[in-house]
Amino acid sequence: MLVNLRDITAVAEQNNMAIGAFNTPSMEAVRAAIDAAEETGYPVIIQHAECHEDFMPMDKIGPAMVALAGRSSAQVCVHLDHCEHLSYMRRALEMGFTGVMYDGSMQPYDVNVANSRRAAAMCHDFDCGLECELGSMGARENGAGHDADESGAMAIYTDPDQAAGFIEATDLDILACSFGTVHGIYKAEPKLNFDVLTDIRSRVNVPLVMHGGSGVSDDDYRSAIDAGIRKINYYTYGVKYAGEAVRRTIRDFEAKEADSVVYWHDMTMAAYASMLETFKDVITVFANGAEPLA
Ligand SMILES: [Zn+2]
Repeated sequence: MLVNLRDITAVAEQNNMAIGAFNTPSMEAVRAAIDAAEETGYPVIIQHAECHEDFMPMDKIGPAMVALAGRSSAQVCVHLDHCEHLSYMRRALEMGFTGVMYDGSMQPYDVNVANSRRAAAMCHDFDCGLECELGSMGARENGAGHDADESGAMAIYTDPDQAAGFIEATDLDILACSFGTVHGIYKAEPKLNFDVLTDIRSRVNVPLVMHGGSGVSDDDYRSAIDAGIRKINYYTYGVKYAGEAVRRTIRDFEAKEADSVVYWHDMTMAAYASMLETFKDVITVFANGAEPLA
């Protein structure tokens, strides 16, 4: 069933767990994420990032995401990830998305606040939950900018002093925090700053979000959840493993017969199977010991 971003993160809050939020710019990913939720019995967030428009236009995949979420037995939120343009956000809202993120983290603070407020007013008209970001993770969701910064040192941690005022000024529902995770492939072991997270948590009363969640150790996931993280964005490593599964499939074909025919559906099936296993594994870790809810 289709669930609002506020309600799905409230479920996470009640159970001291985090909801896996998977970017799904392919039908294989949409199917894998929803099937993983149904098979594990935990809720899931499927999301489309504005910067993935070249992989898959929102106008094509968005209606499929909403329809499949609506008919699922699992609790599924359909979310817009890292939206920087309010006109794009409106299209998602009109399509039936139940969560959106306005990302003004690259803007000066005052502009971030003003645009986040506009986003909140738009979400209110559609009864949609709103995520906003304070601080910066130093690279975009598609990894752009990551090469300039191998350690994540360019990232600007969320300022705990600013967080409560930002929430009050914007009327957001959940807050994305920067505390040491980065988007894309980790080039060094991630070093999460739990003091920043704990400090933010002590001053605000909204669910917190971790971006750059794939590539983090299970122990760090648990520590982050215990410190108040309720949504974990996970993309890069899921598609990396799926890519490796496709490569293994092609090699297996070639090992049997050098000029064997490789059918596309064998690739999509390998990618789907890989993502299903990855998503089930991480959903279970993010559940942090909570009993299945469905
Ligand atoms: Zn992100």
